[in-house]
Amino acid sequence: MKSVRIALLATGLVACSTACGSSGTSTSFEPGKVNVAAALYPIEEIVRAVGGSQVSLVELIPPGEPAHDYEPTPRQVTDLESADVVFYFGGGFQPGVEKAVASLPSSVRKVDLLKSVKLIAVSQQLAGTEGAVDGEVLGDGSDPHVWLSPTNMQLMVEQVRATLAAFPSFDEPSADTGAASFTSRLAKLDADFRSGLSSCVSRVIVTAHRAFDYVAHEYNLEQIAIAGVSPTDEPSAKTLEAISRSARDHQVTTIFFETNLPAELSKMIANEVGAATAVLDTIETLSNKQIADGANYVSVMQSNLAALEKALVCS
Ligand SMILES: [Zn+2]
Repeated sequence: MKSVRIALLATGLVACSTACGSSGTSTSFEPGKVNVAAALYPIEEIVRAVGGSQVSLVELIPPGEPAHDYEPTPRQVTDLESADVVFYFGGGFQPGVEKAVASLPSSVRKVDLLKSVKLIAVSQQLAGTEGAVDGEVLGDGSDPHVWLSPTNMQLMVEQVRATLAAFPSFDEPSADTGAASFTSRLAKLDADFRSGLSSCVSRVIVTAHRAFDYVAHEYNLEQIAIAGVSPTDEPSAKTLEAISRSARDHQVTTIFFETNLPAELSKMIANEVGAATAVLDTIETLSNKQIADGANYVSVMQSNLAALEKALVCS
């Protein structure tokens, strides 16, 4: 994928320094393949697993960028216009991406993967904390973070397989093989979560962002989500007080943070509330470092499981 992004940048600089309209021949796609655009890292990984070398994939979210409020660049809009198929999430999850998708010509197949999965309602946010909610709750009140459920990932694999197999140029048996192999890794991941979290001293997780309701729902945990803790600002006294009260009430040993929050801030909050901190990754995106280290959806979910088992004292 890196090579595609570098190629995209290079063409952008050389060929598109003035304008590359939709009528131009220059796009980021390779000729002779099914051209696919994916609006989120987990979708990219599904497309790669199912489509292999038969697809040319353009990623919309650059590594390390938050996914909810991403706005496609003009160059990406040009790519979208020449895609054969776009896989995205609707319902208000990524308003900027959805707007771009809605304006695409009918020649582009648009697949809202949220229609293939089992949605659940969002849980309550921790009282006394408040934060940005853009894309964090779908229009119908359900939770958009469906990819954090290995079961929903399997449903999306099947939708991507069926969509790609419908292209006449696509070799269906190889899509079936790719889909089956990824599905069996996801089924094992689900089984690992189920057994790893079956017997734990605590079942309450305090997270920095209300992203883990699917994990909580499927593996019988309770998520308490903190909001209003930003990577750049110190949390307010009110937020700190709400977090400490909740940590005390639920005898929480660990406050979970995401990779983009500075370690000092996490430590400061942990000291304040008398808890440890650990990272739970939302996998909306992988950082350049994670990609360089060979991380992928399953490996990061396994790290999440290890962090949960430790914090909840599972045996
Ligand atoms: Zn989110």
